[in-house]
Amino acid sequence: MNQASRSIYMDYSATTPVRAEVLEAMQPYFAEFYGNPSSIHAVGRKAGTALSEARRTIAALIGARPREIVFTGCGTESDNAALRGIALSRRGATGAARIVTLPIEHKAVLNTAEDLRDYFGFDLTLVPVDGAGRVSVDSVAAALGDGKDVAVVSVMTANNEVGTVQPIAEIGALCRSLGVPFHTDAVQAAGKLPLRVDELNVDALSVSAHKFYGPKGAGFLYLRTGAPYLPYMTGGSHEGGNRAGTENVPLIVGMAKALELAEAERQQEQARLRVLRDQLIGGILESVEGAQLTGDREHRLANHASFAITGVEAESVLIALDLAGVAASSGSACASGSTRPSHVLEAMGVPYLAARGALRLSLGRGNTPEDVEYVLERLPQIVAQVKESEPAWE
Ligand code: PLP
Repeated sequence: MNQASRSIYMDYSATTPVRAEVLEAMQPYFAEFYGNPSSIHAVGRKAGTALSEARRTIAALIGARPREIVFTGCGTESDNAALRGIALSRRGATGAARIVTLPIEHKAVLNTAEDLRDYFGFDLTLVPVDGAGRVSVDSVAAALGDGKDVAVVSVMTANNEVGTVQPIAEIGALCRSLGVPFHTDAVQAAGKLPLRVDELNVDALSVSAHKFYGPKGAGFLYLRTGAPYLPYMTGGSHEGGNRAGTENVPLIVGMAKALELAEAERQQEQARLRVLRDQLIGGILESVEGAQLTGDREHRLANHASFAITGVEAESVLIALDLAGVAASSGSACASGSTRPSHVLEAMGVPYLAARGALRLSLGRGNTPEDVEYVLERLPQIVAQVKESEPAWE
Protein backbone atom coordinates (compact mmCIF):
# COMPACT_ATOMS: atom_id res chain seq x y z
CA MET A 1 0.00 0.00 0.00
CA ASN A 2 1.17 3.51 -0.74
CA GLN A 3 1.47 6.08 1.98
CA ALA A 4 -1.26 8.66 1.41
CA SER A 5 -0.26 12.12 0.25
CA ARG A 6 -2.77 13.63 2.65
CA SER A 7 -1.93 14.43 6.20
CA ILE A 8 -4.89 15.12 8.43
CA TYR A 9 -4.35 15.32 12.17
CA MET A 10 -7.45 14.49 14.20
CA ASP A 11 -5.82 13.59 17.50
CA TYR A 12 -5.76 16.96 19.26
CA SER A 13 -6.95 15.37 22.51
CA ALA A 14 -3.70 13.39 22.62
CA THR A 15 -1.51 16.41 22.03
CA THR A 16 -1.24 19.58 19.95
CA PRO A 17 1.55 21.26 18.01
CA VAL A 18 3.26 24.23 19.66
CA ARG A 19 1.96 27.47 18.15
CA ALA A 20 4.45 29.78 16.43
CA GLU A 21 3.67 32.61 18.89
CA VAL A 22 4.36 30.24 21.79
CA LEU A 23 7.65 29.08 20.32
CA GLU A 24 8.66 32.70 19.84
CA ALA A 25 7.74 33.62 23.42
CA MET A 26 9.79 30.71 24.81
CA GLN A 27 12.85 31.13 22.60
CA PRO A 28 14.79 33.80 24.55
CA TYR A 29 14.52 31.88 27.82
CA PHE A 30 16.62 28.90 26.74
CA ALA A 31 20.01 30.49 26.08
CA GLU A 32 19.67 34.26 26.35
CA PHE A 33 17.78 34.74 29.63
CA TYR A 34 18.90 31.47 31.13
CA GLY A 35 19.19 32.52 34.76
CA ASN A 36 17.90 30.59 37.71
CA PRO A 37 14.69 32.39 38.67
CA SER A 38 15.63 32.08 42.36
CA SER A 39 18.99 33.87 41.92
CA ILE A 40 19.23 37.44 43.13
CA HIS A 41 21.56 38.73 40.39
CA ALA A 42 20.33 40.44 37.24
CA VAL A 43 20.56 37.30 35.08
CA GLY A 44 18.39 35.41 37.53
CA ARG A 45 16.02 38.30 38.00
CA LYS A 46 15.29 38.38 34.30
CA ALA A 47 14.10 34.76 34.49
CA GLY A 48 12.36 35.42 37.80
CA THR A 49 10.41 38.29 36.29
CA ALA A 50 9.27 36.10 33.39
CA LEU A 51 8.17 33.42 35.86
CA SER A 52 6.17 35.94 37.88
CA GLU A 53 4.56 37.33 34.77
CA ALA A 54 3.56 33.85 33.59
CA ARG A 55 2.09 33.14 37.02
CA ARG A 56 0.12 36.40 37.00
CA THR A 57 -1.16 35.75 33.47
CA ILE A 58 -2.35 32.24 34.27
CA ALA A 59 -3.89 33.28 37.58
CA ALA A 60 -5.84 36.08 35.91
CA LEU A 61 -7.12 33.73 33.20
CA ILE A 62 -8.68 31.36 35.72
CA GLY A 63 -9.69 33.94 38.31
CA ALA A 64 -7.08 32.88 40.88
CA ARG A 65 -4.39 34.64 42.87
CA PRO A 66 -0.83 34.28 41.53
CA ARG A 67 0.38 32.45 44.63
CA GLU A 68 -2.33 29.84 44.12
CA ILE A 69 -0.63 28.65 40.91
CA VAL A 70 1.87 25.82 41.40
CA PHE A 71 3.93 25.01 38.31
CA THR A 72 4.46 21.32 37.59
CA GLY A 73 5.96 19.15 34.85
CA CYS A 74 2.69 17.87 33.31
CA GLY A 75 -0.97 17.07 33.92
CA THR A 76 -0.05 13.76 35.50
CA GLU A 77 2.11 15.52 38.05
CA SER A 78 -0.63 18.04 38.82
CA ASP A 79 -3.09 15.19 39.45
CA ASN A 80 -0.59 13.35 41.65
CA ALA A 81 0.20 16.50 43.60
CA ALA A 82 -3.49 17.25 44.16
CA LEU A 83 -4.58 13.78 45.24
CA ARG A 84 -1.55 12.88 47.32
CA GLY A 85 -1.04 16.37 48.69
CA ILE A 86 -4.63 16.99 49.73
CA ALA A 87 -5.50 13.46 50.88
CA LEU A 88 -2.43 13.07 53.10
CA SER A 89 -2.74 16.53 54.58
CA ARG A 90 -6.46 16.25 55.36
CA ARG A 91 -6.07 12.80 56.87
CA GLY A 92 -3.29 14.15 59.07
CA ALA A 93 -5.49 17.01 60.24
CA THR A 94 -8.88 15.30 60.55
CA GLY A 95 -8.45 11.54 60.20
CA ALA A 96 -10.63 11.54 57.06
CA ALA A 97 -9.34 8.63 54.96
CA ARG A 98 -11.67 8.10 52.00
CA ILE A 99 -11.09 9.21 48.42
CA VAL A 100 -14.12 9.73 46.18
CA THR A 101 -13.65 9.79 42.41
CA LEU A 102 -15.05 8.37 39.15
CA PRO A 103 -14.24 5.05 37.44
CA ILE A 104 -13.75 6.98 34.15
CA GLU A 105 -10.97 9.28 35.36
CA HIS A 106 -7.67 9.40 33.53
CA LYS A 107 -5.14 6.91 34.90
CA ALA A 108 -3.20 9.85 36.35
CA VAL A 109 -6.02 10.17 38.89
CA LEU A 110 -7.26 6.59 39.04
CA ASN A 111 -3.90 4.91 39.55
CA THR A 112 -2.91 7.56 42.07
CA ALA A 113 -6.14 6.96 44.03
CA GLU A 114 -5.49 3.19 43.90
CA ASP A 115 -1.92 3.73 45.05
CA LEU A 116 -3.20 5.76 48.00
CA ARG A 117 -5.59 2.90 48.78
CA ASP A 118 -3.07 0.07 48.34
CA TYR A 119 0.00 1.63 49.99
CA PHE A 120 -1.29 4.42 52.22
CA GLY A 121 -4.42 2.86 53.72
CA PHE A 122 -7.12 5.07 52.19
CA ASP A 123 -10.56 3.77 51.26
CA LEU A 124 -11.66 4.39 47.70
CA THR A 125 -15.19 5.07 46.45
CA LEU A 126 -15.80 5.10 42.70
CA VAL A 127 -19.09 6.83 41.93
CA PRO A 128 -20.87 5.17 38.97
CA VAL A 129 -21.53 7.11 35.77
CA ASP A 130 -24.41 6.71 33.31
CA GLY A 131 -24.18 5.18 29.82
CA ALA A 132 -22.94 8.52 28.46
CA GLY A 133 -20.17 8.76 31.05
CA ARG A 134 -21.87 11.44 33.12
CA VAL A 135 -22.14 11.44 36.89
CA SER A 136 -25.13 12.95 38.65
CA VAL A 137 -24.78 15.33 41.56
CA ASP A 138 -27.17 13.07 43.48
CA SER A 139 -24.86 10.07 43.06
CA VAL A 140 -21.91 12.10 44.32
CA ALA A 141 -24.03 13.30 47.25
CA ALA A 142 -24.98 9.71 48.08
CA ALA A 143 -21.33 8.65 47.96
CA LEU A 144 -20.24 11.51 50.20
CA GLY A 145 -22.80 11.12 52.99
CA ASP A 146 -21.96 13.76 55.58
CA GLY A 147 -18.46 13.95 54.03
CA LYS A 148 -16.68 13.81 57.38
CA ASP A 149 -14.66 10.71 56.44
CA VAL A 150 -13.77 12.04 52.96
CA ALA A 151 -10.23 13.30 52.42
CA VAL A 152 -10.67 14.50 48.83
CA VAL A 153 -13.14 14.35 45.95
CA SER A 154 -11.75 14.31 42.41
CA VAL A 155 -14.02 14.60 39.35
CA MET A 156 -12.62 15.35 35.91
CA THR A 157 -14.02 18.39 34.06
CA ALA A 158 -14.10 16.60 30.69
CA ASN A 159 -13.26 13.06 29.73
CA ASN A 160 -10.40 12.42 27.31
CA GLU A 161 -11.86 9.29 25.71
CA VAL A 162 -15.51 10.20 25.26
CA GLY A 163 -15.57 13.99 25.64
CA THR A 164 -18.27 14.03 28.33
CA VAL A 165 -18.34 17.19 30.46
CA GLN A 166 -19.28 16.83 34.14
CA PRO A 167 -21.41 19.16 36.31
CA ILE A 168 -18.33 20.51 38.10
CA ALA A 169 -19.80 23.71 39.57
CA GLU A 170 -22.68 21.77 41.16
CA ILE A 171 -20.43 19.04 42.56
CA GLY A 172 -18.11 21.77 43.80
CA ALA A 173 -20.97 23.51 45.59
CA LEU A 174 -21.97 20.22 47.22
CA CYS A 175 -18.40 19.56 48.41
CA ARG A 176 -18.11 23.08 49.75
CA SER A 177 -21.36 22.75 51.69
CA LEU A 178 -19.90 19.63 53.36
CA GLY A 179 -16.44 21.11 53.85
CA VAL A 180 -14.76 18.48 51.67
CA PRO A 181 -11.81 19.49 49.42
CA PHE A 182 -12.64 19.21 45.72
CA HIS A 183 -10.18 18.68 42.86
CA THR A 184 -10.90 18.60 39.16
CA ASP A 185 -8.67 17.30 36.37
CA ALA A 186 -9.21 20.02 33.77
CA VAL A 187 -6.50 18.78 31.40
CA GLN A 188 -8.92 18.23 28.50
CA ALA A 189 -11.01 21.29 29.32
CA ALA A 190 -8.37 24.03 29.47
CA GLY A 191 -8.65 26.34 26.49
CA LYS A 192 -11.97 24.75 25.51
CA LEU A 193 -14.31 25.49 28.41
CA PRO A 194 -14.43 28.53 30.69
CA LEU A 195 -12.31 27.74 33.74
CA ARG A 196 -13.00 30.27 36.50
CA VAL A 197 -12.15 28.62 39.77
CA ASP A 198 -14.71 30.56 41.81
CA GLU A 199 -17.53 29.70 39.43
CA LEU A 200 -16.47 26.02 39.41
CA ASN A 201 -16.24 25.94 43.22
CA VAL A 202 -12.98 23.98 43.06
CA ASP A 203 -10.15 23.87 45.59
CA ALA A 204 -7.67 22.37 43.15
CA LEU A 205 -7.52 22.13 39.36
CA SER A 206 -5.00 20.38 37.08
CA VAL A 207 -3.87 21.69 33.69
CA SER A 208 -1.31 20.56 31.10
CA ALA A 209 0.19 22.89 28.47
CA HIS A 210 0.53 20.44 25.59
CA LYS A 211 -3.23 20.09 25.20
CA PHE A 212 -3.65 23.75 24.14
CA TYR A 213 -0.73 24.35 21.77
CA GLY A 214 1.81 24.84 24.54
CA PRO A 215 4.93 22.74 25.10
CA LYS A 216 5.04 19.22 26.51
CA GLY A 217 6.57 19.07 29.97
CA ALA A 218 4.73 21.99 31.56
CA GLY A 219 1.58 22.02 33.65
CA PHE A 220 0.16 23.70 36.70
CA LEU A 221 -1.98 22.97 39.70
CA TYR A 222 -4.33 25.62 40.99
CA LEU A 223 -4.43 25.28 44.76
CA ARG A 224 -6.89 27.46 46.65
CA THR A 225 -5.48 29.42 49.58
CA GLY A 226 -6.20 27.47 52.73
CA ALA A 227 -6.73 24.11 50.99
CA PRO A 228 -5.07 21.26 52.91
CA TYR A 229 -1.84 20.35 51.12
CA LEU A 230 1.26 18.36 51.91
CA PRO A 231 3.88 18.92 49.19
CA TYR A 232 4.72 15.57 47.66
CA MET A 233 7.87 16.92 46.04
CA THR A 234 10.21 18.11 48.75
CA GLY A 235 13.44 20.07 48.46
CA GLY A 236 13.96 23.81 48.10
CA SER A 237 11.37 26.50 48.68
CA HIS A 238 10.32 26.93 45.06
CA GLU A 239 6.64 27.50 44.25
CA GLY A 240 5.90 28.79 47.71
CA GLY A 241 7.19 25.52 49.17
CA ASN A 242 4.52 23.55 47.32
CA ARG A 243 6.71 21.99 44.61
CA ALA A 244 10.44 21.89 44.99
CA GLY A 245 12.72 22.07 41.96
CA THR A 246 14.04 24.88 39.78
CA GLU A 247 11.22 26.03 37.55
CA ASN A 248 11.33 25.31 33.83
CA VAL A 249 11.14 28.98 32.84
CA PRO A 250 10.96 28.71 29.01
CA LEU A 251 8.21 26.09 29.07
CA ILE A 252 6.24 27.97 31.72
CA VAL A 253 6.48 31.17 29.66
CA GLY A 254 5.20 29.16 26.69
CA MET A 255 2.34 27.68 28.69
CA ALA A 256 1.17 31.13 29.82
CA LYS A 257 1.30 32.43 26.24
CA ALA A 258 -0.58 29.38 24.94
CA LEU A 259 -3.34 29.69 27.54
CA GLU A 260 -3.67 33.41 26.87
CA LEU A 261 -4.12 32.78 23.14
CA ALA A 262 -6.49 29.85 23.67
CA GLU A 263 -8.66 31.91 26.02
CA ALA A 264 -8.73 34.89 23.64
CA GLU A 265 -9.86 32.69 20.75
CA ARG A 266 -11.86 30.18 22.73
CA GLN A 267 -15.42 31.10 21.89
CA GLN A 268 -14.86 31.61 18.19
CA GLU A 269 -12.67 28.55 17.71
CA GLN A 270 -14.87 26.22 19.75
CA ALA A 271 -17.93 27.37 17.78
CA ARG A 272 -16.08 26.60 14.54
CA LEU A 273 -15.03 23.17 15.76
CA ARG A 274 -18.51 22.36 17.06
CA VAL A 275 -19.86 22.62 13.51
CA LEU A 276 -17.17 20.27 12.18
CA ARG A 277 -17.70 17.89 15.09
CA ASP A 278 -21.43 17.70 14.46
CA GLN A 279 -20.85 17.00 10.78
CA LEU A 280 -18.47 14.20 11.72
CA ILE A 281 -20.86 12.70 14.27
CA GLY A 282 -23.89 12.94 11.99
CA GLY A 283 -22.03 11.62 8.96
CA ILE A 284 -20.41 8.70 10.74
CA LEU A 285 -23.57 7.56 12.49
CA GLU A 286 -25.32 7.63 9.14
CA SER A 287 -22.70 5.96 6.98
CA VAL A 288 -20.62 3.63 9.16
CA GLU A 289 -22.40 0.40 9.85
CA GLY A 290 -22.33 -0.65 13.49
CA ALA A 291 -21.16 2.77 14.76
CA GLN A 292 -22.60 4.30 17.90
CA LEU A 293 -21.66 7.55 19.59
CA THR A 294 -19.82 7.21 22.90
CA GLY A 295 -20.14 9.94 25.50
CA ASP A 296 -22.78 12.55 26.06
CA ARG A 297 -24.35 14.16 23.01
CA GLU A 298 -25.15 17.42 24.77
CA HIS A 299 -22.57 17.80 27.54
CA ARG A 300 -19.60 17.28 25.27
CA LEU A 301 -16.33 18.95 24.32
CA ALA A 302 -16.81 20.94 21.11
CA ASN A 303 -13.83 19.31 19.39
CA HIS A 304 -14.55 15.72 20.34
CA ALA A 305 -16.23 12.94 18.34
CA SER A 306 -15.94 9.37 19.64
CA PHE A 307 -17.55 6.14 18.61
CA ALA A 308 -17.74 2.45 19.32
CA ILE A 309 -17.92 0.41 16.12
CA THR A 310 -19.19 -3.11 16.53
CA GLY A 311 -17.42 -5.71 14.43
CA VAL A 312 -13.94 -4.19 14.08
CA GLU A 313 -10.72 -4.05 16.06
CA ALA A 314 -9.77 -0.41 16.77
CA GLU A 315 -6.14 -0.92 15.89
CA SER A 316 -6.95 -2.19 12.38
CA VAL A 317 -9.12 0.86 11.69
CA LEU A 318 -6.44 3.21 13.05
CA ILE A 319 -3.75 1.65 10.88
CA ALA A 320 -5.95 1.88 7.78
CA LEU A 321 -6.81 5.50 8.60
CA ASP A 322 -3.13 6.27 9.05
CA LEU A 323 -2.38 4.78 5.64
CA ALA A 324 -5.13 7.00 4.25
CA GLY A 325 -3.38 10.00 5.84
CA VAL A 326 -5.56 10.46 8.91
CA ALA A 327 -4.08 10.44 12.42
CA ALA A 328 -6.77 9.32 14.89
CA SER A 329 -6.93 7.39 18.15
CA SER A 330 -8.93 4.77 19.92
CA GLY A 331 -9.47 7.22 22.75
CA SER A 332 -6.63 6.87 25.12
CA ALA A 333 -2.98 6.79 24.11
CA CYS A 334 -2.31 4.80 27.27
CA ALA A 335 -4.81 2.06 26.39
CA SER A 336 -3.65 1.48 22.83
CA GLY A 337 -1.61 -1.63 22.29
CA SER A 338 -3.40 -3.38 25.13
CA THR A 339 -6.12 -5.86 24.33
CA ARG A 340 -8.28 -4.89 27.31
CA PRO A 341 -11.10 -2.55 26.36
CA SER A 342 -10.83 0.88 27.88
CA HIS A 343 -11.77 1.23 31.55
CA VAL A 344 -13.88 4.24 30.57
CA LEU A 345 -16.10 2.37 28.12
CA GLU A 346 -16.29 -0.55 30.54
CA ALA A 347 -17.54 1.75 33.32
CA MET A 348 -20.11 3.22 30.91
CA GLY A 349 -21.43 -0.26 30.20
CA VAL A 350 -20.44 -0.30 26.51
CA PRO A 351 -20.49 -3.98 25.44
CA TYR A 352 -17.11 -5.54 24.72
CA LEU A 353 -17.83 -6.13 21.03
CA ALA A 354 -18.47 -2.43 20.55
CA ALA A 355 -15.75 -1.18 22.90
CA ARG A 356 -13.02 -3.03 21.00
CA GLY A 357 -13.86 -0.84 18.01
CA ALA A 358 -13.39 2.49 19.82
CA LEU A 359 -12.52 5.45 17.61
CA ARG A 360 -11.81 9.02 18.68
CA LEU A 361 -11.56 11.90 16.24
CA SER A 362 -10.51 15.04 18.11
CA LEU A 363 -10.39 18.29 16.20
CA GLY A 364 -8.22 21.38 16.44
CA ARG A 365 -6.84 24.48 14.82
CA GLY A 366 -5.51 22.72 11.74
CA ASN A 367 -8.78 21.07 10.71
CA THR A 368 -10.96 22.29 7.86
CA PRO A 369 -14.38 21.29 6.45
CA GLU A 370 -12.45 19.47 3.69
CA ASP A 371 -10.78 17.28 6.31
CA VAL A 372 -14.17 16.26 7.63
CA GLU A 373 -15.43 15.56 4.12
CA TYR A 374 -12.41 13.35 3.42
CA VAL A 375 -12.86 11.34 6.62
CA LEU A 376 -16.56 10.90 5.91
CA GLU A 377 -15.68 9.62 2.47
CA ARG A 378 -12.95 7.20 3.56
CA LEU A 379 -14.07 5.87 6.93
CA PRO A 380 -17.10 3.85 5.75
CA GLN A 381 -14.91 2.10 3.15
CA ILE A 382 -12.17 1.47 5.68
CA VAL A 383 -14.54 0.00 8.26
CA ALA A 384 -16.17 -2.21 5.60
CA GLN A 385 -12.74 -3.47 4.49
CA VAL A 386 -11.60 -4.17 8.04
CA LYS A 387 -14.82 -6.05 8.75
CA GLU A 388 -14.27 -8.19 5.67
CA SER A 389 -10.67 -8.99 6.53
CA GLU A 390 -11.31 -9.90 10.16
CA PRO A 391 -12.95 -13.06 11.42
CA ALA A 392 -16.53 -12.51 12.50
CA TRP A 393 -16.66 -11.99 16.28
CA GLU A 394 -20.38 -12.20 16.64
N1 PLP B 1 -5.76 13.95 32.58
C1 PLP B 1 -6.40 13.87 31.41
C2 PLP B 1 -7.89 13.97 31.38
C3 PLP B 1 -5.69 13.69 30.22
O1 PLP B 1 -6.33 13.59 29.06
C4 PLP B 1 -4.28 13.59 30.29
C5 PLP B 1 -3.48 13.35 29.08
O2 PLP B 1 -3.94 12.80 28.11
C6 PLP B 1 -3.65 13.71 31.54
C7 PLP B 1 -4.43 13.88 32.66
C8 PLP B 1 -2.18 13.62 31.68
O3 PLP B 1 -1.55 14.81 31.22
P1 PLP B 1 -0.02 14.80 30.81
O4 PLP B 1 0.08 14.12 29.49
O5 PLP B 1 0.35 16.25 30.73
O6 PLP B 1 0.71 14.10 31.89
